[in-house]
Amino acid sequence: MIPEISAAFATIKTLKDLAAGSDNHKFLATINDLHESLMTAREKIMELQEDNITLNAKTKELQAKRTTRDDIEFREFAVFKKSTNEGPFCSACWDDKKKQVSLHKVNRHYYDCPVCKGVFCPNRETAKRAEYQAIEVANKASGGLKY
Ligand SMILES: [Zn+2]
Repeated sequence: MIPEISAAFATIKTLKDLAAGSDNHKFLATINDLHESLMTAREKIMELQEDNITLNAKTKELQAKRTTRDDIEFREFAVFKKSTNEGPFCSACWDDKKKQVSLHKVNRHYYDCPVCKGVFCPNRETAKRAEYQAIEVANKASGGLKY
């Protein structure tokens, strides 16, 4: 408990001892009112201390999750968190608003961002080759050239 609150309870006890046997009912009632107010204040302080503990834990959790500029690096087509190797995250969202937005894999060649709708390709050459191969397969199947 907070030392000042303990001291205040001790003072109230001293006042009650001094007033014991007194017939000054207004003085005794005032001491009792003071005692009740102090108990209410102690309960509020305890609630605030619990809130403070919860908020401090939440702050530590968020600080641990927070990505700093020093912990971000750009690789190939997206940003990654160096310390945990998490990613890929949208480089456009990071550059614009320092938002860490996970990219969604569309297929084996492309990712997209659910926030800015950007489309990212880890290996453009591989993706283009795959597109040309798909067109060639389609052309062979239809018997004509459709470039
Ligand atoms: Zn984005």
